[in-house]
Amino acid sequence: MINFAVGPVQMEEQVRAIGAEQIPYFRTAEFSALMKENERILKKLAKAPKEARAVFLTASGTAAMESAVMHVFSKKDRVLAVNGGSFGQRFVDLCRMHEIPFSELSVPYGKAVTQEMLRPFENQGYTGLLMNVHETSTGVHYDLDLMASFCERNHLLFVADAISSFLADAFSMEEKGVDVMIASSQKGLACPPGISMLVLSERAIERVRENPTKSMYLDLKRALLDGERGQTPFTPAVGILLQMQERLKALEECGVEAEVARTHGLAEDFREKIRGLPLQIASESLSNAMTPLKPLHGHALDIVTVLKEEYGIWVCPNGGELRDQIFRVGHIGALTKEDNTKLVDALKDMAGRGLL
Ligand SMILES: *Cc1c(COP(=O)(O)O)cnc(C)c1O
Repeated sequence: MINFAVGPVQMEEQVRAIGAEQIPYFRTAEFSALMKENERILKKLAKAPKEARAVFLTASGTAAMESAVMHVFSKKDRVLAVNGGSFGQRFVDLCRMHEIPFSELSVPYGKAVTQEMLRPFENQGYTGLLMNVHETSTGVHYDLDLMASFCERNHLLFVADAISSFLADAFSMEEKGVDVMIASSQKGLACPPGISMLVLSERAIERVRENPTKSMYLDLKRALLDGERGQTPFTPAVGILLQMQERLKALEECGVEAEVARTHGLAEDFREKIRGLPLQIASESLSNAMTPLKPLHGHALDIVTVLKEEYGIWVCPNGGELRDQIFRVGHIGALTKEDNTKLVDALKDMAGRGLL
């Protein structure tokens, strides 16, 4: 089985071996040191400012999105949420649920955000921006420079869900003025699902301190406080944090640019190899993390099923309205160009059978 899903992704041998070991007790100096090291490396990979802090929640990525919405913003804010697919919709739903005043910038599926689309929201008293760097449901990577200058001009607190783009596309918290970067264990980090991370700027930490705490489990004040000594308020997914340490150390050694370049190489190789197949790339602004494909004749969900059952290859179906039209091929995790060749050979074979 080869896994081209966009999370959970294929894990390296060493990371899987750690997952097979016994789980140590964690209220110890050793585990605190490991957590401080994880925080240091994560900040470095995110190119976070020196004063920033990183916290680790034992929950999937959505928990970090929810915790950020609840604790960085309050009823006094006015937030703009970019909504170009199901992950943008999730921010919209979270604002509604937690009663954060917001407006929605609706982006048509597969389209990038333009200066023109932002114009009606300039100088309107907004205080924050919620955005997925890469809207994984449609495969659109938004223009970070455009969003960063919009935030700067309008003095917005910038919350960036980088869950699927972190380590796949170039990113710098400091350079783009990002106040909260959200990441998750099961995407580019190629660990099991179960840990999500928030890297918070000084400004965002200030907000968390000022705002009332709205949740016990997702309490960022407590996570920040306990994190000062390398601990978490509740029992964390210790095993995943150990696996993450292995990955973070390796990434620190090779450098984040090299990992982005490796992912870019895989994405380009795949896009090159599918030329001539009856498949259309369905996004005008691609991330290196994934290629969204629209078959010209076939049925997207059927293609996903046939690839899985007859060729032993997993790709991602789409949810919602795009379910029958688009499927997605990930380039994150422990994949190689040979894996790409196997997938493309399967697709060619299916094209020959009239299934694309
Ligand atoms: C995967 C992903 C998430 C998180 O989803 P979970 O299932 O909660 O881990 C959030 N945002 C984006 C952009 C994603 O790709």
